Amino acid sequence: MDKRIADYLINEKPHYRAIGKEIELFEAAMKHSLPMVLKGPTGCGKTRFVEYMAWQMRIPLITLACNEDMTAADLVGRYLLDVDGTVWQDGPLTLAVRYGAICYLDEVVEARQDTTVVIHPLTDERRILPLDKRGEIVRAHPNFRLVVSYNPGYQSAAKDLKPSTKQRFGAIDFDFPVADVETEIVMTEGGVDAELASKLVGIAAKSRALRGHGLEEGISTRMLVQASKLIADGVCAHDACRLALTAPITDDPELLAALEKFVELYF
Ligand code: ADP
Repeated sequence: MDKRIADYLINEKPHYRAIGKEIELFEAAMKHSLPMVLKGPTGCGKTRFVEYMAWQMRIPLITLACNEDMTAADLVGRYLLDVDGTVWQDGPLTLAVRYGAICYLDEVVEARQDTTVVIHPLTDERRILPLDKRGEIVRAHPNFRLVVSYNPGYQSAAKDLKPSTKQRFGAIDFDFPVADVETEIVMTEGGVDAELASKLVGIAAKSRALRGHGLEEGISTRMLVQASKLIADGVCAHDACRLALTAPITDDPELLAALEKFVELYF
């Protein structure tokens, strides 16, 4: 393996609790180098899943969180000034394409559409990445895989993948797991007992029912893990739930009061 991507190899097995058939399906898609989109709410385990799969496939994982200020150069690379003049520096996507890594573009719809078109020639049989500025065409390494994620929950029409981009991907839907499984995840990740974990999961379930009623997103698994860690450290349950679960997701006093009531049902 090229040393430029060796640091991205995941050596320790990440803890990932499968929710459904996602592991088998992803393996099947990867065998055929099918680019994949993982859809689902934030904090439901998409990133952890990709880390787990990268570990299992023994392929380095290069992750890039997308945002609206991102340009194509942030993905493919640019010329930088050096003592000897200008030198080309591969961007994260080019590194993955050239040397064979999984490139994971988190929240891909945040990036402007003119940025995401650079992935088109990589997502069909050509598997090439043209570097226009450099006058080079990079042929994808056999291990190169492209995985992107997005949250269909708060998508506006302006922020969506173009149909011509979408059709190039296979998709797997993610969501928060059923209560028993989520309790298990919170126990393992947070190092807490089943009783505490299931109370936190109960609060989250109630908050998710408020989605679309003023609340953009309910309490995620990630937030439950954070609250459980605080409680395990000795922070009182009410304070931990306010800090990690309720206050972060709303600024509206009425909604906050409603969420606090859910906490009081359990603690
Ligand atoms: P996303 O990428 O969907 O925003 P993450 O993968 O970052 O979410 O998940 C957030 C956290 O939730 C993880 O760091 C992990 O602690 C926990 N988590 C969520 N789902 C799982 C799962 N299925 N197995 C293990 N941990 C999980």
